[in-house]
Amino acid sequence: MSGGLFWAPRAWIDGRWAESVLLRAGDDGHWAELRTGTAAPPQAEVLAGPLLPGLVDAHSHAFQRAFAGLAERRETEHDDFWSWRDRMYRVALRITPEQLRAVAAQLFAELLQGGYTQVCEFHYLQHDSDGRPYADPLALSWALADAAADIGIGLTMLPVLYERAGFGSPRLREDQRRFATDADAVLALQRGLQSSGRPLLNAGVAIHSLRAAAPASIARLVESLGKVPIHIHVAEQIAEVDDCLKATGQRPIEWLTRHAPLDARWQLVHATHSTRDEIDALARSGAGVVICPSTEGNLGDGLADLPGWLDAGVPMAIGSDSHVARAWPEELRWLEYGQRLRHRQRNVCASPAAGEPATAARLFNRALQGGGGAAGFGRWGLMVGARADLLVLDTQDAALLGVPAERLLDALVFSSPGRPFRDIMVAGRWTLRAHRGNGDDTAARFAAAMQALWQQP
Ligand SMILES: [Zn+2]
Repeated sequence: MSGGLFWAPRAWIDGRWAESVLLRAGDDGHWAELRTGTAAPPQAEVLAGPLLPGLVDAHSHAFQRAFAGLAERRETEHDDFWSWRDRMYRVALRITPEQLRAVAAQLFAELLQGGYTQVCEFHYLQHDSDGRPYADPLALSWALADAAADIGIGLTMLPVLYERAGFGSPRLREDQRRFATDADAVLALQRGLQSSGRPLLNAGVAIHSLRAAAPASIARLVESLGKVPIHIHVAEQIAEVDDCLKATGQRPIEWLTRHAPLDARWQLVHATHSTRDEIDALARSGAGVVICPSTEGNLGDGLADLPGWLDAGVPMAIGSDSHVARAWPEELRWLEYGQRLRHRQRNVCASPAAGEPATAARLFNRALQGGGGAAGFGRWGLMVGARADLLVLDTQDAALLGVPAERLLDALVFSSPGRPFRDIMVAGRWTLRAHRGNGDDTAARFAAAMQALWQQP
């Protein structure tokens, strides 16, 4: 059953803590009423701790969970993003729909426990391992949607336009055969997902990158698209910036701002290598960026100009991408630590001049708002009309124990808690209670899938 009346001693509303909060979730799974400074009425369920809204994980490749922690040895003289990608493809080529469902269910359970209540899946694995289409072109999409439904997390599916191996190459490489799509195929996948009628599932589209899709195909994909998210990998790697310059005379973000009909639907994933002019042009367009700090660190991508994006007011979301980390406090911490290491200063992302001295709060508020937009939601967070999602903080967690209430978010991000969220609600239903989630056999199925995946030659 969804819906109900809840009361908490404090909750994160309008970007800050509010006290004595009453919340009513409607039968439609959205917040129908929110009141602050009010005593708990007898019929309300009193929640076990302070409340935060759930965040959106705005960039995921679920199958890569099967690879996390397994690319951390350097066996040749040089190891970079491209050698990592070759190894990652070996998993991509092997995984079956059943294995994908098992891997994704484990991932989604971990993401939920890590404080995400919605995931944007940048989904480019479409065909059977020999490259032939499945009888149902959405076979692997349903594996992901079933996994999300099993766990009770929201899912934004983004089928990916992926048609060539590079700027100068008309087609994909042999080891990219499972990814092949064109604009019409992506639109058909998007429509099939959007019209499924499944609760907690919506769909937009993605473009793998400028190197992987021709300008005419990008134009065809987006020309008739409605108000749905459009995600694209951009400027993650210096080699990609150089290739784009060589092929078009422009840098990738620059090219997009001049040639794509950018607006608030568009999300530029990574946007690691940017210039001041590119940031300003993107700010004028209304498009957002999705930064994936743990993966960008793991892959040696480089550091985004985070102060530049934040100060320009560009919407910012975070993504766990390759899933080497699966909790948002860790992503926010690395967002800030990257900048501290670069600038040799502290609290780089805070803005006392703008009345935002708390680094964690500024990053959290940006990721909250940017994430909702990246998943295609007009309203997101603890507000009337938004989906009734919440996280109940476990103030008995070692990192939060004894922390003054107004500093809980700071400690949550910067003091490395173990299991900070005690209870989690998605769309008015409890999906985690006292740290226990749905799906008792999730871990066992994942372990079996891992064993099968890693035993094969
Ligand atoms: Zn990605």
